[in-house]
Amino acid sequence: MYEHIDDSWICGRYGEDEPWTLGAVNPPVFENSLFTFPTARALSEALTAEDENYVYSRGTNPTVDLLQRKLAALERAERAKCFGSGMGAISATISSLVSAGDHVIVLGAVYGPTTQFLRYLEKFGVSHTTVHADNPAELDSVVKQSSRMLYLESPSYMRYGIIDIRAFATWARDRGLTTVMDNTWATPIFQKPLTMGVDLVVHSLSKYIGGHSDLVGGVVAGPARLVRPLALTEYQLYGAALSAHEAGKAIRGLRTLPVRMQAHQERGLKVAEFLVKHPAIRTVNHPGLPGHPQHELALAQMTGFSSVFSFEMDTDDLAEVGRFVDALRHFRIGVSWGGHESLVNAPALTTEESVRATMGIPVGLVRLSVGLEDAGTLIADLADALKTS
Ligand SMILES: *Cc1c(COP(=O)(O)O)cnc(C)c1O
Repeated sequence: MYEHIDDSWICGRYGEDEPWTLGAVNPPVFENSLFTFPTARALSEALTAEDENYVYSRGTNPTVDLLQRKLAALERAERAKCFGSGMGAISATISSLVSAGDHVIVLGAVYGPTTQFLRYLEKFGVSHTTVHADNPAELDSVVKQSSRMLYLESPSYMRYGIIDIRAFATWARDRGLTTVMDNTWATPIFQKPLTMGVDLVVHSLSKYIGGHSDLVGGVVAGPARLVRPLALTEYQLYGAALSAHEAGKAIRGLRTLPVRMQAHQERGLKVAEFLVKHPAIRTVNHPGLPGHPQHELALAQMTGFSSVFSFEMDTDDLAEVGRFVDALRHFRIGVSWGGHESLVNAPALTTEESVRATMGIPVGLVRLSVGLEDAGTLIADLADALKTS
């Protein structure tokens, strides 16, 4: 469908030559809650396919539509639907695929609130099993007659392990399960799961795609037969709509996405290479490092690496981790990631001990989101803070 279109074109001009854009370099933002019709009959006809006509902005909006077309093209999907947050997209997608009595298989460590949402669904009779597996055959013992969906994230949350996407998607397809994958880490610039057999891809737009820490949004992309029903039902009924204004900011974020991802990759790897050699660091979890246990697999399914990764300080003393984090001057302390600014987050400092133990998070685990600052400045900051601790 999209073979002859390159990603930088999609991020720039693709979809923008509609008559309504009037040739504007930046397409107008349609800040409208509703759209009117010349006759009652015209409105009635539009309502029969609300996902394809502009009626009301909780359903469709031209600016949001333009963003959807670009994101679908980047993921090589037939359709995409944008939401007011990544969790809006994830909860609607999961809800559209399961019914009472169904079972979900979660592969490896996924974003915390996604697991929380699956636990929430237990009150509606939907169960799930989380499995850590390198080989699809290991899932044969957990799959049930009622299993409907395989949910995965690669690289995995916090640990950045790599899952063999093609192998697991094939396993799921052979058993009639729908595979949903969170591709937020790599962005469609570096990884295209639909081309590897995944059925639906979800993203938080709040990270690299927005890229400037100034918006919250989400998207699901895939075949029309799966995206259309959820756009007409879960999207409309849960109401997690993306505003035209936020869509306009995401369109602007996309313009620089390919170059930002190159810059993030380069800086992230430089910082990771510095940490690998540092005596106070036990391990660095970055799939782009040759020493990463699944580096070869990563190269086989990704065309690049983003700049969020974790490392483990060589200590079991929480106070020492705290002194290190507080001593950083360029890395700011906060949640989220993927923006222009470098961020640090040590989960052991912000998670209750019992929760940390069940999640298997070591005391010394630190996550970095390497921003667009000079790598030398960031490395000097880390070197100084490691001396302090
Ligand atoms: C942030 C994040 C989400 C959720 O996105 P929101 O826009 O915050 O709702 C989902 N998956 C991953 C991997 C994330 O990092």
